[in-house]
Amino acid sequence: PAAEQKDHAIMETVDFRDRNTDLVADRQEYGDDPIAVRDSDQYRAEYVQTFVEKWDDLIDWSARAESEGRFFIDVLKARGKAKILDVACGTGFHSVQLMRAGFDVTSVDGSAAMLAKAFDNAKDQRMILRTCQADWRFLNRDLQGKFDAIICLGNSFTHLFNERDRRRALAEFYAALKHDGVLILDQRNYDAILDSGFSSAHKYYYCGERVTAEPEHVDPGLVRFRYAFPDGSEYRLNMFPLRKNYMRRLLSEAGFQHIRSYGDFQETYQEDDPDFFIHVASKS
Ligand code: SAM
Repeated sequence: PAAEQKDHAIMETVDFRDRNTDLVADRQEYGDDPIAVRDSDQYRAEYVQTFVEKWDDLIDWSARAESEGRFFIDVLKARGKAKILDVACGTGFHSVQLMRAGFDVTSVDGSAAMLAKAFDNAKDQRMILRTCQADWRFLNRDLQGKFDAIICLGNSFTHLFNERDRRRALAEFYAALKHDGVLILDQRNYDAILDSGFSSAHKYYYCGERVTAEPEHVDPGLVRFRYAFPDGSEYRLNMFPLRKNYMRRLLSEAGFQHIRSYGDFQETYQEDDPDFFIHVASKS
């Protein structure tokens, strides 16, 4: 029992430090070999405070709202969904949009820095966000209740670097949904990036040309994106390149019965064309 107790104490210390890494870090750390970093826990160290602040200063919410239109609102309303869980709320863009449209929203993120920013952003717009810090892999340990719909948007699922974590997260999402719940999850079009090769991988521009995102390393297990800001600062994100059909298979094997995939918000598209795929997966 003494040994068990000691182990427990160590676990708690590690957990405490982990959860607070992103509150103190002000620069991204990838060590000596950044492309060797392929870890589902890395996201906490990637979304450092300065990156979070810069991102929101430059990406203007109204431009993003305009490019997405009413897509998510329409999908949710058409299916009669009201109680929404935003599992990757980030700085709160979709949570705020959906609250404004009258949905009952709960906002989750594993990063404390992101949640704090989301709360402040909502407050600036006179809304109080209901937030919960949780990692998807332990979602139902840290969150109560069942939801009509879960959204996991902004290419977030890409942060999971091994299949066990992906299956675990999808099982947690499935369990947090009501019997006829729906999961909306999006991803970059990695098939195009992997198949067209690094040399032809194009630059992505956010809101004009203020921020560029470009893959600086591509292999079947890692796409490392570089984000360049007009003041010369740069940040990176390591991502797992999810192929579209692999993602659809994981959703189906998690128990989702119907999966409809859209390309850049359209139901019909050329396989190579879209930058993003959006999967709408329903339990029944
Ligand atoms: N959805 C937001 C948007 O579109 O602006 C944020 C997208 S950002 C690319 C990905 C978010 O997923 C980050 O806020 C990160 O903290 C969160 N995240 C990544 N892995 C996670 C995990 N395992 N559990 C909980 N949140 C996670």
